[in-house]
Amino acid sequence: MARGLTKKQKKTRNRILVALAIFFALEVAEVGFEAFDALPNGLWFEFAAFLVPYLIAGYDVLKKAWHGIVHHQPFDENLLMSIATIGAFALVFFPEAEPHMAEGAAVMLFYQVGELFESYAVGKTRRSIADMMDIAPDYANVMHDGELVEVDPSEVAVGSEIVVKPGERVPLDGVVISGMSQLDTSALTGESVPQVVEEGVTVVSGCVNMTGLITVRTSKPYGESTVQRILELVENASEKKARTENFITRFARYYTPIVVILALVIAIISPLFFGSTWSASVKSALVFLVVSCPCALVISVPLSFFAGIGAASRVGILVKGSSYLETLGAADTIAFDKTGTLTKGTFNVVAVHADEEIDPDLLLSYAAYAEAFSYHPIALSVRESYSGVIDQSKIDHVEERSGQGVYATVDSHQVLVGNDKLMLAEDVPYHDCEIVGTILHVALDGKYIGHIVIADVVKEDAAQAISDLHAAGIKKTVMLTGDKREVADAVAKRIGIDEVRAQLLPQGKVSCVEDLLAEEREGGKLAFVGDGINDAPVLMRADIGIAMGAMGSDAAIEAADIVLMDDKPGNIALAMRIARKTMRIVWQNIVFAIGVKIVIMILALPFIGIATMWLAVFGDVGVAIIAILNSMRCLRVPK
Ligand code: ADP
Ligand code: MG
Repeated sequence: MARGLTKKQKKTRNRILVALAIFFALEVAEVGFEAFDALPNGLWFEFAAFLVPYLIAGYDVLKKAWHGIVHHQPFDENLLMSIATIGAFALVFFPEAEPHMAEGAAVMLFYQVGELFESYAVGKTRRSIADMMDIAPDYANVMHDGELVEVDPSEVAVGSEIVVKPGERVPLDGVVISGMSQLDTSALTGESVPQVVEEGVTVVSGCVNMTGLITVRTSKPYGESTVQRILELVENASEKKARTENFITRFARYYTPIVVILALVIAIISPLFFGSTWSASVKSALVFLVVSCPCALVISVPLSFFAGIGAASRVGILVKGSSYLETLGAADTIAFDKTGTLTKGTFNVVAVHADEEIDPDLLLSYAAYAEAFSYHPIALSVRESYSGVIDQSKIDHVEERSGQGVYATVDSHQVLVGNDKLMLAEDVPYHDCEIVGTILHVALDGKYIGHIVIADVVKEDAAQAISDLHAAGIKKTVMLTGDKREVADAVAKRIGIDEVRAQLLPQGKVSCVEDLLAEEREGGKLAFVGDGINDAPVLMRADIGIAMGAMGSDAAIEAADIVLMDDKPGNIALAMRIARKTMRIVWQNIVFAIGVKIVIMILALPFIGIATMWLAVFGDVGVAIIAILNSMRCLRVPK
């Protein structure tokens, strides 16, 4: 425990150790040798002797309690501990009672041990999360007058050329313009397989360059780079508090005063009306005061969420606040977008069916030109399969119709590329294809010229992810897609999705999500997982929006509540397990802490009277330490 203590914590630790040594020496003298009984006025010697470790360990608590009173904010744990311990010492004034000086000193001592442990545990959790998030680059290498100079990444303008040497962190998002290398993306995505990069590949800041020297043209200023966004997100995560967290704060606000009032009532009422002795009732009251401290909950609950969010970020799952972890933990329905989420979104061109007098290559080139500016996975694939160069000066008037396709003027011809909805909307007669697959109809100047059949590939771990989700307690999985019914059904069957809604426009996906929300059972929540391409409105509408493959996609990061840095569906199930585990630990702590405290209070009632001050110390410090240790389990990512 000595490692990682701050100076102040070390000082407190030394003070506690000294006080503990004196305390145990006195205990041995008293219990072992009955040293004090042998002395004349032994009781008062004992009183004075135990005051020494008490004051060494607890003088600052007394001071803080006094400050609280002076500044009219007395109601805190310092005051509670002060009253309880002073009360224990004061029992010496009741001649018929056994003295309780040792317990008074012990309460203070162990209270301080607990406080020290708490601040250590919170600090350790903070640090281990900070370590994981150690992704911020220190400098960027910029060419300046033919020489490489190291500059602050925030000073590098968009469009600058920077050099990233092997072993260095990529400082800014950009595109590789020369060189070849492998990048370690594990700090961002938790993915251990390196990413191979070469000319033309997009790289994001925060990855570590492993093998070769690369030159990158920056595409974003530092403030908007991936690293900066991730850090901001993690830092702000504590602002969106979970309902459980708020509940604990409110609970603590009432719990402490209620128990203190109960203590007063017991101390005064029970000797007057129920004939218990004054010393017995004061003793119960003191036990009440010690267990009235809510710190086990007030510290462990937020710490659990914090650790859970930290664990998630280590595997590339960014949670924007503890409330989202809580909601995800309660989810029982998950809706998925198909393309890019469950499927790779890299379509292979299966066939090009051109009508009679048209050359298939010409058809493909018109399609590639029309798709030149689209970011849709379909567009990328069409461009990929077109071997020629796209001369952008020939393209005009591009218009993307979300969920349908694109319209563009190419070489002064009107080109339409899209699904049957687009053809119907534009009144172009078309015909279907005998191959099952996603069909891209192409029309030239309002006349149908044929279609391209493309097929997407289901992601390798999609089926596993769906069955993991069912195992983790998800009742229903739904796929929402703009693609054809046949294609959607085939994909759903392959990977085990329960329900399919196909041929949806983006706004249709929103209303599907609204239907699902309306069907929701008591307490159940709906999560939606998308890739952020034209599904941002759905991400926002669901109880919880999860964006995947979000490295570099701003819209998705903005709209989602949980961001998966890589695009493996398996991480949805992992996020779910982290959420469930965190919530389980939070509730274990709540039930355990409140339960133990209530039991101790019942045992302390004057007519039962079996709870000692020692038990009360356990009820406060012991419970807090156990709850905190339990919280720290949230740091470990479940398998
Ligand atoms: P998904 O719901 O599967 O992610 P989208 O809503 O993005 O799919 O698109 C639905 C359908 O709209 C696609 O299957 C395709 O037929 C058509 N489409 C969308 N964008 C384009 C585009 N850029 N080019 C051609 N077709 C497109
Ligand atoms: Mg999509």
